[in-house]
Amino acid sequence: MKSKHFRLPLTLFLIALSCISAFPAYASKIQVVTTLTDLADFAREVGGDLVDVHSLATGVEDTHGVPMKPSFVPIMNRADLMILIGFDCEHAFLPALLEASKNPRIQHGRAGYIDCSEGVIPLDVPKSTDHSEGDVHPYGNPHYTLDPVLTKTAVDNIYKALVDFAPQHKAEFTENRNAYLAKLNAKIARWEEEMKPLRGLKFVSYHEHWPYFAKRFGLEYFGTIELRPGIDPTPRHIEELVAAMQAQHVSIVVREPQFPEKVPQRIAEQTGATMVTLPIMPGGVPHTKTYIEMMDYTVQTLAAAAQARK
Ligand SMILES: [Zn+2]
Repeated sequence: MKSKHFRLPLTLFLIALSCISAFPAYASKIQVVTTLTDLADFAREVGGDLVDVHSLATGVEDTHGVPMKPSFVPIMNRADLMILIGFDCEHAFLPALLEASKNPRIQHGRAGYIDCSEGVIPLDVPKSTDHSEGDVHPYGNPHYTLDPVLTKTAVDNIYKALVDFAPQHKAEFTENRNAYLAKLNAKIARWEEEMKPLRGLKFVSYHEHWPYFAKRFGLEYFGTIELRPGIDPTPRHIEELVAAMQAQHVSIVVREPQFPEKVPQRIAEQTGATMVTLPIMPGGVPHTKTYIEMMDYTVQTLAAAAQARK
């Protein structure tokens, strides 16, 4: 009689126990926070079902100045991995958020702090690294993910971070990474083909986002509307840029979505160039949810603009 009395609670206890042991499989997904949307895309591709990924940026922000929201703090507080571009790209917002997160696992120098620039050789390294001058590229240009070949280094750094964090899932991460790199390699071959007719094309942009992209596809990066990275143009700089563009027949003005259209539009009108708006991370313009969609959009938009001028 007594034992029967105990049977029900014991059954309930066992059911509860099995629920608990099943629950962490869902709840214990690896919590990943990225600064930018391209890194979030790579983390989702490599991490698959084992990761929960949150990007601080939505895609339309300035990569150097993602507006800080209170909602970021709890997300970063529970993060296992904090994934960033590096070269001090996120200097204006990430250090303050890391401090506010009170999460020792993701602080600079800890295992959960993943700098994707590891292994990337930066272009345009300035002689001095003085933030007080307002230069936002103190350790060289941080916009290397606009080169799809260099992007593979970022994908690999994310892969290594996931394997280090959860070595028991190495096989799954490896399979995911290999599948993504195969997809990316096939796309790179197509983008190179589509960009071939544009070799030597001269263009300017608002911010210095495009040196790696230009180098990869053989374009001539003529200059920027900004005086220096992060420093607004002066009227004199714009005047000189317009004169040089006219003299050298620069045909394309790239405007990035986080900058107002007015100045690039005026420069395009004054020089007879075509203005195009190109995203610098996924989500920057509609239909660019993933990195591959974004690069497809960029290549197709540039090719169409160049073709229309013929
Ligand atoms: Zn920049």
